[in-house]
Amino acid sequence: AVFPRKAATAPRVPATRLALHHFDSSYSLHLGALWPSVRAALLCEQKYGALLNSFAAADHVPQELQLLNATDFISKAPQKAQHWQQGAAVGEARGCQEGSGEGRTVMQEGMVTQAEMSPPLCTSISSKIKCYTFPRGDITRFRPARPDALGLLDYYLLDAASLLPVLALNVQPDDFVLDLCAAPGGKTLALLQTGCCGHLAANDVSVSRTKRLYRILHSYVPREVRDTVSVTSYDGRDWDPVEGGTFHKVLVDVPCTTDRHSATEEDNNIFHKRRTKERQMLPMLQLQLLMAGILAARPGGAVVYSTCSLSPLQNQCVVERALDIAEAQFSIRIHVEDLRHFRALFQDTFCFSSDCRLGELVLPQLTANFGPTYFCKLRRL
Ligand code: SAM
Repeated sequence: AVFPRKAATAPRVPATRLALHHFDSSYSLHLGALWPSVRAALLCEQKYGALLNSFAAADHVPQELQLLNATDFISKAPQKAQHWQQGAAVGEARGCQEGSGEGRTVMQEGMVTQAEMSPPLCTSISSKIKCYTFPRGDITRFRPARPDALGLLDYYLLDAASLLPVLALNVQPDDFVLDLCAAPGGKTLALLQTGCCGHLAANDVSVSRTKRLYRILHSYVPREVRDTVSVTSYDGRDWDPVEGGTFHKVLVDVPCTTDRHSATEEDNNIFHKRRTKERQMLPMLQLQLLMAGILAARPGGAVVYSTCSLSPLQNQCVVERALDIAEAQFSIRIHVEDLRHFRALFQDTFCFSSDCRLGELVLPQLTANFGPTYFCKLRRL
């Protein structure tokens, strides 16, 4: 008799489905009534920002983008701060109202007071970084980047919220800067746009991703500036013995569950069954990288920790654990900087969570579909 053959393997559950299942159970608890709207946004096309390349001969680009109704969300912020400081608009602090409920709001009315907008906080936003975005609800796409006469591309398209960790770092002239997990290089490029890095060390453990970083540097940055960047492929966890305690500013943009990618793309998805262990180990890897970043910063120096995940286990829990370890094992005291003024300054562009205990979290929403981006700034005392 001929028996029908049994399938050798059970039908494979797509990794995106596994990711959504995981997010549904954890984020519905964490975000409450906001989760359905964040979920919908994660599944829809994300919004981009155009990071202008100041090294390219592209003076016409701002005008071209303004004609399309795009604006530079960063240069708008200090004007806004000034407006607030004149005391005219504290009550105008409109929040992102989408999805509010159960006592949670994305951003509450008038939350940021004048005291929180004091001059040092406002001036820390001044930046040479320019990034154009379309207004809320406008889902126009940017044209692809174009080369200038020397072949340098005029802008770099990225999730505009991913610039917030770079702005929080507040690079000052001649700072020694370390970008510990740098590839493919969007934030490295933004750090270079400040024109302030005395020296920039860009590191990433992955050799193939480091090649992408080289490609971005070649496409956007002239040789004389490229020569000021040292690119390495160390395991960031081993950074301390190499060059500990020397940097004024350290960016630790760790590998994470990349929630938007995991919810929408099968390729390279960390929710694939075979990557379960790797995923479960992420908070430990993130903690080790953050510790290495803290040790690489000089006393008085700043570290910004960032992820593109909504998970508290990968965000504030990692920071809390690092603070404990720094104190207990290394006698390093750390001050967590207040970044609440970011919420007020950039609320026209992004939706910020108002529930984040430590650091700031940009929530994807359909009318402002950036993020998720979590960032927290630590000062080594
Ligand atoms: N900062 C980058 C940007 O803006 O384009 C994105 C960084 S991505 C979120 C995280 C990076 O961490 C990946 O490129 C990954 O290869 C790198 N990575 C993972 N484990 C690492 C380690 N142990 N040391 C250094 N880099 C690591």
